[in-house]
This record gives sequence, structure tokens and C-alpha cells, in this order.
Amino acid sequence: MVSETRLVGEFFRLVQISSPSKRERHVADYLKAKLTGMGLKVEEDEAGFEIGGDTGNLIARFPGNGGPAIVFCAHMDTVQPGEGIIPVLQDGIITSQGATVLGGDDKAGISAILEAIQVIKEQNLAHPEIVIVFTVAEEGGLRGAQAVDVDSFGAEFAFCLDAGGPVGSVVNRGPAQNQLRASIYGRAAHAGICPEEGVSAIQIAAEAIMRTKLGRVDSETTANIGLISGGKATNIIPDCVELEGEARSLTDAKLAAQTEHMIETLQQVARKRGGRAEVSVQAVYPAINLAEDAPVIALTIKAAQAIGVEPQVIRTGGGSDANVLNGRGLPTANLGIGMEKVHSTDEFIRVADLINLTRLLLAIVKLA
Ligand code: ZN
Ligand code: CA
Repeated sequence: MVSETRLVGEFFRLVQISSPSKRERHVADYLKAKLTGMGLKVEEDEAGFEIGGDTGNLIARFPGNGGPAIVFCAHMDTVQPGEGIIPVLQDGIITSQGATVLGGDDKAGISAILEAIQVIKEQNLAHPEIVIVFTVAEEGGLRGAQAVDVDSFGAEFAFCLDAGGPVGSVVNRGPAQNQLRASIYGRAAHAGICPEEGVSAIQIAAEAIMRTKLGRVDSETTANIGLISGGKATNIIPDCVELEGEARSLTDAKLAAQTEHMIETLQQVARKRGGRAEVSVQAVYPAINLAEDAPVIALTIKAAQAIGVEPQVIRTGGGSDANVLNGRGLPTANLGIGMEKVHSTDEFIRVADLINLTRLLLAIVKLA
């Protein structure tokens, strides 16, 4: 059976090993030793070199009794403030002491995977090959997952353990994201002596932003301008403003339309006011679009029912490694792991959710 003591002990150990994005070395070394000690073959890929971090993704293989492999994926990095975390357990709830996040995002996922493997070994449970993927640099760009060699897994589907929501919830739809950077150019002039010779890049930006559809654009699409900087002094008509923003949509055509709308609006307003706008777009990750009866979702629902938690198929507005894996052609469900208030110092998780998450993984393994 799932050992609550071992599971919580492992979670406590993991969150106390600092692992900000691109500096996952210590936790990766710990996990390598742990997995090797459990008899698994562990490899570290080249992601660290590729993204300028000190650690690659860990890929561990637990050979099974036949059938296609299944993948369990969680990320090793945590958001800031996430160094020197002191976990506290009280009344079945784990929080962080003081001014850091807890790091349950995503070390709760890692802990549950490790505990599930231990239980399978102890009880000699039949299982397909299990490929464990612990990624780096998920936060702020899914960079580690983008370097993963998905084809090498030999799997038909995968599970990421990295969604909010209760255990039993599973994400089948999530938006693709584009990021935009714009440089708006006007013309500098003395603001008191000859303002009519100037073109204010700040006025261009202001009008363009007001004319752009932002926030919740429609039921599937969101957009935001999140950063703005520019100008030199109050007596100079500003000749340059930099903007950074994003658009997300569950539907590719809507994402393309919203992105185009943002570019067009900036450029039209800039032209009209006698300036110009240079806009670059980067596709950050693709959408998740799994049918409710897709095998990986159907299996999750069955597993939730088997352990007596309510299955819930949900959509999200966020991104995760599951977006990348789905985009590479590996159907990947993102499982709700019970973590709450993530990316804040109020982050917490219930011990009951850690246990149920492990039981869910065991049910998935049994049904796969
Ligand atoms: Zn996460
Ligand atoms: Ca996160």
C-alpha cells in the first residue's frame, strides 16, 4: 500500500532541495541516485546545454511485462521565491514556512511518481514499461520539454502531473500561446520648443493598446500586453516604446486572427501618426486538444472511478509540458494533483491529495 510516511518524507526532502529553473542540478543528482537505487536505468539528456542551464531532463525506464510504455512526466524546477523552502505539516495540510512558495508545483508530482514505483516494486504488481520524465525549466517557457526526444519513449500516451484542481481532474484542452514583441518608433523633438516636429511613440502605443482587443477576447481566446517601457525625459517627445504581450487560444485559427489583429493595430496606428511599428511573433507552445473519449482521457476517468474520486475533464488557460508533448504527437493528459495557490507564498497541498494522486497513478498503471 501507499506509505504516507515515506511519501510525505520524500516530498519534504524534495522541496528542501532548491531547484530554480535552469539550476536543477542538486535535485536532479538526488533523483538520479534515488531512481538508480530503485533499480531503474536513468539518463540525462542534453537540454541543459541547449537552454543554458546546468541540468538536462532525466529519463528513467522501469521495464514492464509487455505492451506499449506509459510516460509519467513532472518538472524539477520551481518558481521564485523558492530557495530555502521549509515545509510545515499541520492538520493534514503542507504549507511553506515564511516567504517562499512550497514547491508542490511540481515536487508533489515527483513524490507521487516515486511512491508509485516503490509500491509497484514492493507488491510485484504487473505493469507496462513506465518511462519517467523529469523535466527542467518548465516554468517560464517549457524549455526542457522542448528538448525531450519524445519518439524514444515508445509510448502511446503520457501523463503530466502538473495541473491544479483536485485529484481526478484531467486537462483535455489548453490554449496555444504566441508571444509578441513590438518596437514602436516615433520622432524625437524638444517638447517645449518644437513639439510639432515630434511624433510621440508613447501616444502611438497608447492609442494602439486602447484599440486592441485584450483580456478575454472570446470564450477560447485571451490576450495581454504585459510589459511596456520607453521615453527618456519629460522634455523629449519619446521616439521609442517597447511592448511585450501574448495571445492564447484553444483554436489555432482564432490565435492566428488575434495575433494578426494585434500586429495590424500597432502598425496601422503607428502609420497614421507618422511613426512605425516593428512586431515579432514567437509561437511558444501548441494547444492541447484531446477528445473526451481519447484513450488517455478515458483511462484517467476509469482510474479515478476505480479509486473513488470524481473524474472531471477540464480545460485550462495555462500552459505546461503537456502542451509540448501533445504537440510532438504524444497524447498527454495533464492530471490535477491537488496543489493550490501555486506561484504564491500561500501555496499548499493536502497529504490526502498526495496519497490519492499516488493511488491514481497505481490505478492508471493497472488499467493501462
Ligand atoms: Zn508546474
Ligand atoms: Ca507552475
